[in-house]
Amino acid sequence: MKARKKILICGAGIAGPVCAYWLHQYGYDVVIAEKARTLRDGGQNIDVKGAGQQVIKMMGLAERIEAKNTREQGQKYVDATGKLVAVFPKGAFATLTSDFEILRGDFAHVLFEATAEICDYRFETFVTHLDQRDDGIAATFNDGSVEEFELVICAEGIGSSTREMILPEQTSFRYLGAYMSFFKIRKRPEDGLWAHTVNGIDGTFITLRPGNDMETTVLITFPRKKPDLAWDDRASMKKLLLDALKGRGTIADRISAELDTVRDFYCGPMSQVRASRWSKGRFVMVGDAACCPTPFTGEGTALALVGAYVLAGEIKRCADPADAFEAYVKRVRPYAEASQNRMSPALIRLLHVRSGIAIALTRGVQKILASGIVQRRLKPGAAQRERKIAEDFVFPDYT
Ligand SMILES: Cc1cc2nc3c(=O)[nH]c(=O)nc-3n(C[C@H](O)[C@H](O)[C@H](O)COP(=O)(O)OP(=O)(O)OC[C@H]3O[C@@H](n4cnc5c(N)ncnc54)[C@H](O)[C@@H]3O)c2cc1C
Repeated sequence: MKARKKILICGAGIAGPVCAYWLHQYGYDVVIAEKARTLRDGGQNIDVKGAGQQVIKMMGLAERIEAKNTREQGQKYVDATGKLVAVFPKGAFATLTSDFEILRGDFAHVLFEATAEICDYRFETFVTHLDQRDDGIAATFNDGSVEEFELVICAEGIGSSTREMILPEQTSFRYLGAYMSFFKIRKRPEDGLWAHTVNGIDGTFITLRPGNDMETTVLITFPRKKPDLAWDDRASMKKLLLDALKGRGTIADRISAELDTVRDFYCGPMSQVRASRWSKGRFVMVGDAACCPTPFTGEGTALALVGAYVLAGEIKRCADPADAFEAYVKRVRPYAEASQNRMSPALIRLLHVRSGIAIALTRGVQKILASGIVQRRLKPGAAQRERKIAEDFVFPDYT
């Protein structure tokens, strides 16, 4: 494709700005339409795993990301009153804590700052209609204006409305059997620099993690048979969460007491996006919009980074959008599907044990796993598996 063509990216989350960065490097003009009023800096601790770290390094952002590292020391399992069950320091087998620990909001800001000057960000803007032709695509925006683009890239995350407009039949959701909620609460001295996880009665699974100087992040997941509550029904979501926390001990009580004042409340079904097609004509999807694996995999951000890098590269490399999208999907889909397949409803059930006996057994297993002898045996294999997942993705050089 020739340079200085104009591309529209919908969504200023993670995949959108990364794709914009690379497209700008390759000589394209990029408009980013973001539905929210300002940059959405909610969310809690995210891992940037394996191949995703490589993209960050290629963008020259590793130091800026490292400066925002939450410094989490590892993960402690505790009971409902906060009493210690088992300790998994950073680097241990089965710990939550990775090398690249950053709050999603901090990460989104680093990416925004790296691209704010080089592309045209438009907030409170979204597409209401797309008109595809052989030689271009006309986007109608929510203010009624119409603009011509070479391509439209949808990076709108799991709840994408443009995807529903263009590829409704080709997209389905795989519900994993639990709801998830995340937000931040006031930090207390005892929170320290460790993640604290509680397996609660009836499957309420709570993790508190170091956020910033003032705040501790909260992730709560709990089983629910069907994804039957609408995303935007905040009042019902809060009630659902309060029910899941009721009678679950002092940590749950602390969270319930603060729920009315949190500013970044999020709650929704834990579902994967399974799309049989990622593109149509001059429209293509990337990141969670195409292949959300769920936050429980810890791999959504890496998928967004890798997908955005490859998509931009193939657009540069191929003269025809159809060839570019085919090459992009061929490279990224197997990586995304492998990530999605590592998570299943059965695994979610196992992590959300419900009865007192099952929880006691789980705590026994946690203690055994944390023991020195088990760690010495399992740690090297786990590290090797992580390395293999990263190395299995071969990065094309598009420069
Ligand atoms: C507020 C928020 C908090 C999150 N917190 C966590 C977390 O704690 N842990 C975790 O693992 N993952 C979290 N995620 C998801 C995580 O960011 C993604 O899994 C991953 O990084 C992939 O990023 P993405 O760019 O594909 O999607 P996202 O990061 O979801 O970004 C999508 C962007 O598109 C925008 N958008 C949506 N619809 C439209 C539209 N029609 N037009 C224009 N813009 C639109 C959204 O406002 C958002 O800014 C969160 C996402 C959001 C938006």
